Amino acid sequence: MTKTYNITLLPGDGIGSEIMAVAIDVLELVGKKFDLQFNCTTALVGGAAIDAVGHPLPPDTLTLCQNSDAVLLSAVGGDKWDNLPAALRPEQALLGLRSGMGLFANLRPARIFPQLVTASTLKPEVISGVDMLVVRELTGGIYFGKPKGIFTDEQGKRRGVNTMVYEEGEIDRIARVAFESALLRRGSLCSVDKANVLEVSQLWREQVIKVSADYPTVTLSHLYVDNAAMQLVRRPQQFDVIVTGNLFGDILSDIAAMLTGSIGMLPSASLGAPHTPGLFEPVHGSAPDIAGKNLANPIAQVLSTAMMLEYGLHLPAAARSIESAVSQVLDKGKRTGDIMQEGCELVGCRAMGDAILEALAQPA
Ligand code: NAD
Repeated sequence: MTKTYNITLLPGDGIGSEIMAVAIDVLELVGKKFDLQFNCTTALVGGAAIDAVGHPLPPDTLTLCQNSDAVLLSAVGGDKWDNLPAALRPEQALLGLRSGMGLFANLRPARIFPQLVTASTLKPEVISGVDMLVVRELTGGIYFGKPKGIFTDEQGKRRGVNTMVYEEGEIDRIARVAFESALLRRGSLCSVDKANVLEVSQLWREQVIKVSADYPTVTLSHLYVDNAAMQLVRRPQQFDVIVTGNLFGDILSDIAAMLTGSIGMLPSASLGAPHTPGLFEPVHGSAPDIAGKNLANPIAQVLSTAMMLEYGLHLPAAARSIESAVSQVLDKGKRTGDIMQEGCELVGCRAMGDAILEALAQPA
C-alpha cells in the first residue's frame, strides 16, 4: 500500500519560491519512484506572511507545521522588511518555528562532492573525501541561560553577563540524536566541549559518556573546542559526527560549512523529540540579490529534501536516490553561477532542477 506523508512547504522570501518549485518536483518524482504519496500544503512565512497578514509566523502556519509529518522551508528575509521592529521581522519566524515545534537539535552535514573539490579555500588533498555531520544543541546553553543582561552597579560600572547552563536532560537528548545519527552513518561520534575549564562542559562530557552505554557500536571520542576548530581545518576527514553545545556548534558548523566552499550546496535539519515533525532547510538565506532571476542554485534545497526523507520520514533509500541524482548532474558538468568552474556548463535554477529530475528518473 502507498504510504502517505503530510508535508508543509514554506517557500518564504527571495529565491524561496524558485528553489522550492524544484524541491516540489523532486518530491513528486521520488514519490512515483518509491511508491510514496506526499500531500504538500504551502503556507505563509517570513516577509511574505508580513505582507499578507501582518505577522512573520501566522498561527495557522505554526499549527499546520506542528500537525504535519515534516516541514520543508526555503528562506526568509529581505531589505523590504529590515526596518520593522525586531519582533515583527521575518527572521522571528525561524525562532517561532524552533520554539513552537520544540526543535532542539540542528544537523548540518558538510560533504565535499568530488566534482567541487577546487571550490574550497583549503587544499584539495585536505578536503577531498570530507563527509561529516555537525549536531548542534539549539535551544539551551549560553544563548538562553540566566542571568543574562547588562547590569550597572552602585558605582555606575556596567557588567555584561551571560550564563552557560545545561541540564542533564538537555545533554542526554542531544547526545541521543547524535548517537542515532552516527548509527545512520559511519558509527563514529566526537563530542566537543571545554571540560578542562568549564563545569558545564564537565557535566556535558559525563552525560555523553553515560548515554554512550546505549550505543555500544558507536565509537565515542572527545575534543576540546579549540582543538576541534584546529582539527577541522587541519584534517577534516577524521570526522564523522560531531556533537556540541549551542555556542560551540554555532561556530564549528560555520567552519565545517565553509570547507565545502559553496553556500548554495548546504542543507540542514532541525529536529525535536522522536515522532515529532522536523524542519528542513538550506543553510543559505533568501539571496535577495539574485531573487527572481533564475540564478539561484537549488541544490541546497534539494539536499534538504533528501535530509527530510532520511531524518524526518526515515526513507533512506529515497534520500540516497536524490543525492545520487545531484552527484550525476555535477558529473555532467552542469553548474549554477555560485559553483561555476572552467569547462563546465552554466545553467539557471530551473535547468539545474530539470537536470536533477532527469537523473532521478533513471532506474536505480
Ligand atoms: P544569503 O545566504 O541570502 O546570501 C549570501 C550570498 O550567497 C549572496 O550573494 C547570495 O546571492 C548567495 N547565495 C545564497 N544562496 C544562494 C543560492 N542558493 N544560489 C546561489 N547563490 C546563493 O545571506 P544574506 O545576503 O546575508 O541574507 C539575505 C537575507 O536572508 C537577509 O534578510 C537575511 O536575514 C536572510 N537570511 C535568512 C536565513 C534563513 O531563512 N534561514 C538565513 C540567513 C539569512
